[in-house]
Amino acid sequence: MNLTLRASGLDQLFACNGSLLAQSFVSRPDTEEDSATEGSLLHYLIAKRLVLELGATAPDGLTPPHLPKGYKLPAFSAWIVDWGVQVVKDFVPSDWTLMVEVGLAYEYALPRPVWIPLAELSDVPVGAIRRTRADGTEEVLVTHFTLSGHLDVLAMSPDGKRSLGLDWKTGVVGADPAEQNWQASGYDTLVATAWPDIEDAEFKLCQPRIDSDATGIERISSSRLNGDELRRMTDVIRENVNRALENRYETNSGQKQCRYCALALTRPWDCPSMAAELSFMKANLTPETLAALRAMPRDGALGDFVISGRTLTAPIKAATELLHERLDTVGHVDADCGTRITRTTRPGDYEVPDKQAFYGVLKVVLPEEADRVECSTFGMGEIKKRIAVTRGIVQKTVKPMEPSAEKVFDAELRPLVNQQQSRILIFS
Ligand code: SF4
Repeated sequence: MNLTLRASGLDQLFACNGSLLAQSFVSRPDTEEDSATEGSLLHYLIAKRLVLELGATAPDGLTPPHLPKGYKLPAFSAWIVDWGVQVVKDFVPSDWTLMVEVGLAYEYALPRPVWIPLAELSDVPVGAIRRTRADGTEEVLVTHFTLSGHLDVLAMSPDGKRSLGLDWKTGVVGADPAEQNWQASGYDTLVATAWPDIEDAEFKLCQPRIDSDATGIERISSSRLNGDELRRMTDVIRENVNRALENRYETNSGQKQCRYCALALTRPWDCPSMAAELSFMKANLTPETLAALRAMPRDGALGDFVISGRTLTAPIKAATELLHERLDTVGHVDADCGTRITRTTRPGDYEVPDKQAFYGVLKVVLPEEADRVECSTFGMGEIKKRIAVTRGIVQKTVKPMEPSAEKVFDAELRPLVNQQQSRILIFS
């Protein structure tokens, strides 16, 4: 267990105290996902533009991310770089000091030092007090923890009393708004420690891919703390970390904390809370109980079903991939329940890697345009992105006079489409 805690991991730690210790026993799976690569590149490109165009400094240097060979930023994601630069122009006054990629780490005292077995610690604080337990093993008195964080953008007012931090979340999964997000509080705490004169710390969580109307999640959300609140927030974080260390053997599952947990993504069956979720689903998700629920809905039980199912979605996806890897190696797996798992294959969905080449041949095979139109499907999101790229305008804007792809779409194409309503569950 590492006593250096990342601000971005505080939400998980406070929701599931056991996650810190539990995750230390497994390796985080390598992520070669395109979204992770794309996210690193977008962060880098925004930072580079802020340095070149707005004179931002990069105190820790600016290093291009390591990209898979031949990787290029998808053309339809390039708008996010413009969007990020524009957000900085919109929210950071021009006379403020602007920094990018700011790494901060400080040590904080625990209000109540905690005795922790030596075997649970990956790094033992220098000079820590030790004692021998009755069983002959050693334990260590942990008095401090380190909080670290990496701000994508940090701006400071000329008098050094105000700060504005920005964090880009370039994925499609919405994060909690800044005022409900411990990551924001962690960053504010670090900034207030680094610059003790700060009296007003603001933080913005920027999620360009989130459609606020469809998801109910704000695209740009803000939190703001004044001097006293900042100091109290530092104490709240110290107290919560203290409680988490005292309660480190207790796990608590939930969508938010389990989604990125290394244990959930590698060996969810070894997490007691995940196992309990599975038992709950197995014991209750029977045709009879579902029929009973349908006949006389009991909202509390219905909600529990859905939350358990969603909590298990990401771990089951990861475990299924792991099972495929085992099947690649051993051919079959015998589950403890007695079921033998093997595999067969069948043709899956088609992909068109080169759309231009495919369409060129399609024109030969189906010479009539009307025939080609009938077998085509249209992605409205992609159309809007292409309108933005070809016309050199932003995708979306709140400024009444500014042209945008959304406005072009609404005027020209929306009358020709029927839009279904998405139903999105919000868990709070
Ligand atoms: S899988 Fe979920 S409940 Fe289990 S340790 Fe990780 S975050 Fe906690």
